[in-house]
Amino acid sequence: MSNIYKQGDIIEYGQNRFTVLENRIAAGKEKANKIILINAVAILLIILVYALYIPFRVMMGTPAEEFSFGAKDFLIYLAAFFASFIVFVVAHEYVHYLSYRIWGKVPKEKLKFGLVVKSGMAYCISLEPTTVKESRTSLMMPIYVLVLPVMALAFALQNGFLVFLSAMFFSGSAGDLWYMWTMRKDGRDKYVIENMPKNGEYELGYLLLEKIN
Ligand SMILES: [Zn+2]
Repeated sequence: MSNIYKQGDIIEYGQNRFTVLENRIAAGKEKANKIILINAVAILLIILVYALYIPFRVMMGTPAEEFSFGAKDFLIYLAAFFASFIVFVVAHEYVHYLSYRIWGKVPKEKLKFGLVVKSGMAYCISLEPTTVKESRTSLMMPIYVLVLPVMALAFALQNGFLVFLSAMFFSGSAGDLWYMWTMRKDGRDKYVIENMPKNGEYELGYLLLEKIN
């Protein structure tokens, strides 16, 4: 629906009025291309973690024997991986939520959690516009409080499984990093609003707004 908005349109949220500066909601072919791009970023983030970890291991002079484990171990690791990943996805969205609550002062009832089953995408969306500054904080917070600590622990313990987990967690932030990139030139006082998924489809992108005083 917000796809119909264009530059200069006026939108009301509560008592506040906003002008649309830019419609950054991707549709059709553009959306498909952006999803490919985000997946490419996700793969690059995994490669980046190993590009840091492998030289780190070599530097520490430790043999890489932990990658060789039996089939029984493999199943245990697989189960541990899926369990951790589910916990991470929930925690990741909850960190977005807390960030909107704490720094965006968004009321509870204006924050929506969910899962787009068709695309396996979890989300936490603010129903009221948040500033670019607040949005950036929310986008980065899962990396700061979840990804980097797990990665630091993984490196400190030189634990291959934790390194793999942290790499996968990092790749789960690819979409957030892509949003960060699209906001790189925007003033911190501009506003951002995302749309709720509809008919089992999530919208990729957001409207960039300016508050009318
Ligand atoms: Zn996220």
